[in-house]
Amino acid sequence: MEQDLSKLCIHTITTRDWTLETAVEKYLEKGIHGISVWRNYIESKDMREVRDLLESHNMKVVSLVRGGFFTGLTKTERDKKVEDNKAAIEEAASIGAEMVVLVCGATPGQSMEESRYQIREGIERVLPLAESSNVKLAIEPLHPMYADTRSAINTMDQANTLAEYFESEYVGVAVDVYHIWWDDKLKDEIIRCGKHKNLFAFHLCDWRNPTQDMLNDRTIMGEGVIQIQKIIDYVKEAGFDGYNEVEIFSNRHWAEDQDIFLDRIVKAYLNYKY
Ligand code: ZN
Repeated sequence: MEQDLSKLCIHTITTRDWTLETAVEKYLEKGIHGISVWRNYIESKDMREVRDLLESHNMKVVSLVRGGFFTGLTKTERDKKVEDNKAAIEEAASIGAEMVVLVCGATPGQSMEESRYQIREGIERVLPLAESSNVKLAIEPLHPMYADTRSAINTMDQANTLAEYFESEYVGVAVDVYHIWWDDKLKDEIIRCGKHKNLFAFHLCDWRNPTQDMLNDRTIMGEGVIQIQKIIDYVKEAGFDGYNEVEIFSNRHWAEDQDIFLDRIVKAYLNYKY
């Protein structure tokens, strides 16, 4: 089989304990040229130096992860989040990231409708900066188990509707198999997303069964219950030709030798047809 890794991207959180410097070296060693950078890896760093590091290693920065969390009970709280998202957009622009992934937010104590309204308003407020900075905003629908505190956007339908509302080439959707694999409207919604040119990003991992932890028990593609190839085929049919981003948070995998873990990811990645 041809070992085509040209569209493989790894999220830095996947190899959690590696610094950005180590991650870049190790990814490159395996022939991986795509990286999605989580903000905690560049916090308090000089963005110029981060950019130099990535460029000198010929790494393509797919996404900066993550912005969003627009909701809040008070205006002060929401204003602060808008400022934080503006900072994320500026960071993305300075390290050469194509987009910021948005985990939209949800706040206990207010309705889902109110949270959704606040999310739309938050995106509206940061969109001018995103446009002028040439940084896209990718709305990531989150599995409904996170509807309490992480996101009031839980289905592809909701994410599509929100993205379409803006009619901007700078607002689209990040499809993460972990969050949307169970959806009976999945194919239609992915095709819809592509038709509106809103399919910005594609995240891969698998849903471990039984899941031990709601946040940190994702697993490698092929080791869980998600029909990965089927979703890859939908995304392809929708016209997606961007990077396939591996994003695994896993207490179990973080405890392993990360070199071996990364080898296993690459091997699993090559089992699918993109
Ligand atoms: Zn994701």
